[in-house]
Amino acid sequence: MFDFKKELLDLEEKRLRRQLKTLESQQDSWFVVDGKRVLNLCSNNYLGLANDKRIKKASISAIKKYGCGSGASRLVCGNMILHKELEEKIAKFKKTESALVFNSGYTANLGIISALVGRGDVVFCDKLNHASIIDAIILSRTELRRYPHKDSFTLEELIKKSENFNKKLIVTDSVFSMDGDIAALKDLINLSKKYNCLLMIDEAHATGVLGKNGRGALEYLGLENEKENIIQMGTLSKAFGGFGAYVCGSKDLIEYLINKSRAFIYTTALPPAVIAANIKALEIVQSSKNLRIKLKKNISFFKNGLKFLGFSVTDDETPIIPLIIGDAKLTMEFSKKLFKERIFVQGIRPPTVPQGLARLRITLMATHTKKDLEFALAKIKKVAKELCLI
Ligand SMILES: *Cc1c(COP(=O)(O)O)cnc(C)c1O
Repeated sequence: MFDFKKELLDLEEKRLRRQLKTLESQQDSWFVVDGKRVLNLCSNNYLGLANDKRIKKASISAIKKYGCGSGASRLVCGNMILHKELEEKIAKFKKTESALVFNSGYTANLGIISALVGRGDVVFCDKLNHASIIDAIILSRTELRRYPHKDSFTLEELIKKSENFNKKLIVTDSVFSMDGDIAALKDLINLSKKYNCLLMIDEAHATGVLGKNGRGALEYLGLENEKENIIQMGTLSKAFGGFGAYVCGSKDLIEYLINKSRAFIYTTALPPAVIAANIKALEIVQSSKNLRIKLKKNISFFKNGLKFLGFSVTDDETPIIPLIIGDAKLTMEFSKKLFKERIFVQGIRPPTVPQGLARLRITLMATHTKKDLEFALAKIKKVAKELCLI
């Protein structure tokens, strides 16, 4: 018999047991969690769109016009005019031929990667890529070659040793979800060309955030002229404040995925309320450069504040800021004490991050005020001193 209690006790002893906290208000820069009004420093709602009035209105209109459910998978009869509109608009935004919406970032990665590669193929994967990419590779039954984080030299060595495989795929987060740093995309593009590999990037944390127009890491790094050769995936659940994901690229790629991607084929289409919200969010993401400018200002202000306190932070202009503590127990203690001070930031432990690299994962929003950030820095200073971390 499976002993659930014992498994849970094991986790408890290693300080790795996870527990749900419950949000009792709207998802915003301040919100009510477990009965307490706290400053939100851990959502991926970077532009503050999850509770945007204009998006709520668009979503409600779609329910009135099209109802609540989509009724079937896209290929049966769930493909509504709204899905088509969203996909056309995403392709236009990303300046690609075509785009396809998936039900979440997690299932998009499963669906794309397992359709691209299989037995006899090989995938080269950054050690810090998102869990959904790892799961996708396992599902595809492809050979997995992990390379050390952003280590293009080792990656090239691994590729050279992989002549016996059929298809080769390099896959990377463009902004790493737990570290907030940006992939060495120029190197990856060069290697993919030199060795005839497919290249796929996961823009979950870059879409809407990076680049003047929010098109992501390729825009930010000035590499958009290379996009023809890249399979770009991104989510609508983070900066877009909604739900779902997309992949974009050539017409042929999209047609292929419609035919081959099981995570696209065998699931019910996203409902009208969600798709209409994403359409509105896309419009706002494209037209609101000021939100990205504000976010950038917040990032620079907060990182400078942390440096001043003695924490080591990188210069990456992304809203994900890890405060590496190391020990899982101490990390959770830090998070708990901050919550008492009305700051909500989650501790992140193995297996989400490597052993010995537990951390507070701070994320910033465009809608945080300077006062919010000053409040957070003061509380972080207080608690870090109590725990003898600074
Ligand atoms: C969040 C995330 C996903 C999963 O997206 P969901 O829409 O939340 O399922 C995939 N890849 C990366 C890098 C992510 O950070």
